[in-house]
This record gives sequence, C-alpha cells and structure tokens, in this order.
Amino acid sequence: QQSIIAYCRPGYEVDTGNELTELATQKALYGYPVFKAGEGYIRFQFHEPEHAEQFINEVAVSDTIFPRQMFLVLASIAIEDKSDRIGPVVHALAQSDISRCGTLFVDYPDTEEGKALAKLCRKFAVPLRQALRARDYLTRKEQLNLAALHVFFTSGEACYVGVSQAKMRSPFENGICRLKFPPKAPSRSTLKLEEALLTMLSARQREAICRAGARAVDLGACPGGWTYQLVSRDMHVEAVDNGKMADDLMATGLVDYRAEDGFKYRPQMGHVELLVCDMIEKPDRVAALMANWLTRNWATHAIFNLKLPMKRRYETVRAAIEAVGSQLASANIKATMVIRHLYHNRDEVTVAVIREI
Ligand code: SAM
Repeated sequence: QQSIIAYCRPGYEVDTGNELTELATQKALYGYPVFKAGEGYIRFQFHEPEHAEQFINEVAVSDTIFPRQMFLVLASIAIEDKSDRIGPVVHALAQSDISRCGTLFVDYPDTEEGKALAKLCRKFAVPLRQALRARDYLTRKEQLNLAALHVFFTSGEACYVGVSQAKMRSPFENGICRLKFPPKAPSRSTLKLEEALLTMLSARQREAICRAGARAVDLGACPGGWTYQLVSRDMHVEAVDNGKMADDLMATGLVDYRAEDGFKYRPQMGHVELLVCDMIEKPDRVAALMANWLTRNWATHAIFNLKLPMKRRYETVRAAIEAVGSQLASANIKATMVIRHLYHNRDEVTVAVIREI
C-alpha cells in the first residue's frame, strides 16, 4: 500500500489535495490526490510505498491546514458478507507487518451519507476492539502514546484500514473536536476561538497567555462570542466593533467596549498580551494588520481568522501567511505559526501566531 487518507470538511477536497501535494513535494516525496468533490476525504496516492510511510511519519495533522485526520492505508476493503465485517479487517492486518497498536478509531466522513454510518461504526467498534485485542493487534488497555489503528467506512460495504503515529494524528474521533455550546455565550462563533485555544496552543502556552488579569484586544468583537472566551478566563478585553455587545458581557466589568474601526484602533495601554480578530475582510488586509500589530509589539501573540475566497483558497491562505511570516522575520521576531481549518470554521481558517514563551 502506498497511500494515505486525509479527512477534511466536505467541499475542501481540492484544497486538501493541493496542500498535501505541496507538503510532499517539499520533502521530495511524490504523488497525487484522488477524490470526489464533496466526499469529505481524499486519498493521496504516492508513487513509492516508502514515500507514503515517510510522509505520515513526518507530517503531523497539526502541521497542516485542511486535513482533520490522516493515516497510512494498509488495505482498502470491499465487504462482501455484511454479517462478517471483522474477518476482512483482521485478514488485512494479518497481511501487514504492523506492531501492536494502542487505540482504535472507527470513523466515517463528515457528510450526510457518512453520518448515516455513525451507528454502524459505533456498534462495530465494540466487537472489533475485542477481536483485535484477542489477536494482539491492540493493547489490552488503551495506550494513547502508541500507534493507532484506523478503520474508515466510506459506505456500509467499503472501508480503509490504516495506521497513524501517536504524535502525528488528531486525538479526536473523525478528526472532529466536538464542543458543547456554552449557554451564556452570545454567539456560536465562540466555539471557533474555544477550539483554537484548545487545539492550536499547547497547555503551557494556554496557561501563559490566557491568564487572569492579562489584557487582550478583540477586533470585530460583536456580539461577543470571542470576548466571552477571554472573559471566562478572567482576561481584560478591549472589544472593538460598531455593533452591539451582549449585555451580560458588559456586566462582567472586564470588557472595555470601543465603537471604532478595527483597522485604525490602537491598544489603550500601548500593548496587550493577545490580539484576536474575526473581522470579515479580505485575507491580505487582515494579514497585514496582524503583522503590523505584532511587529510594533502592540500585541505579543495573535489569533485571527482569514475568510476564504471561493476559489484558490489554499493559495490565498499561503500568500497571506507568507506575508505575515516575512514581516515577522524582518523584525527578528521568533514565533510559531499554526494555521488550521477548524471544525467550527466554515469558509475560513484560524491562524495562531505565538511568540516563544
Ligand atoms: N467574533 C464575533 C463573535 O464571536 O461574536 C463575531 C464577529 S463577526 C463574524 C464580524 C464582526 O466584525 C461584525 O460584528 C462586524 O461589525 C465587525 N467588523 C467588520 N469590519 C470591521 C471594522 N473595520 N472595524 C471593526 N469591526 C468590524
């Protein structure tokens, strides 16, 4: 086998394919994406089996933009006898040379057709896990620091079986970070920043940046979903927008509301720990604004969304990010930049620029 599977938001197969092609080429690994638009995943076919293995061992899901999950394909299975789905999976593993894995994912694409497979996957996972443990393909107790086995159903009659490395994969079922909507948050947008804080920052970064009493600016803040996340971490927020902020947030006493243009606003005390920005604007304009704040040290770190155009989305994101990267480099600022198409994002990606702590 010489391919990998990458899950993505349905409709983002082309972007996922373009991104993986570029990442592979940068490593002198060659292949091409195979997909049907709207299916919520792609298969990336390498020319050499070693290339697929090297790619999956070296490229973490968290280093990519569009993939939600990635695994190396061991077998593509057409299930002929629906009363025995376990047999073909075990047979495929017997043909491979994988060592014992620590956990099992039974996943499906994030499409309407995929969701119809949710029940099947849930029911199938229980006896499959037992069968795999009995045959020593899985550890008795879940061990998240070991490789994972993946069974990815694309229909009731077909699945891919594969493997991923612990530090490289997404820890979530279907590669989706599900979050409960906080009842007091004023907009569903709140989940975007919550997911970003939980999945794009390390625990150490989160503690250092989102600490009680630290200051933040929120550009394009209304009605306050992002501000809610910061306030609930006891941060003080300058919320900039011409719209209306939720009254509950204003009542916390932690929000300084400013009805101003986010492109002209400057931090009240000359500097904040964290800049967040969710203004609906062209990606290159937002990128230039963020670079300006960071290089002038108006903010130490920034988390912002780039709204995506209809076409050439991957190229647009790359161009915006390169512009930020080159400005930071010329200002001699050392920062990590993580860019993710989060589950709670629609046609936008989230960028976290975190200075070394
Ligand atoms: N993050 C917010 C939340 O969680 O509730 C939602 C933000 S909404 C997607 C975009 C906001 O950006 C709108 O409220 C809009 O008024 C604001 N906006 C757009 N252009 C702006 C500008 N130039 N200055 C300030 N706010 C702006």
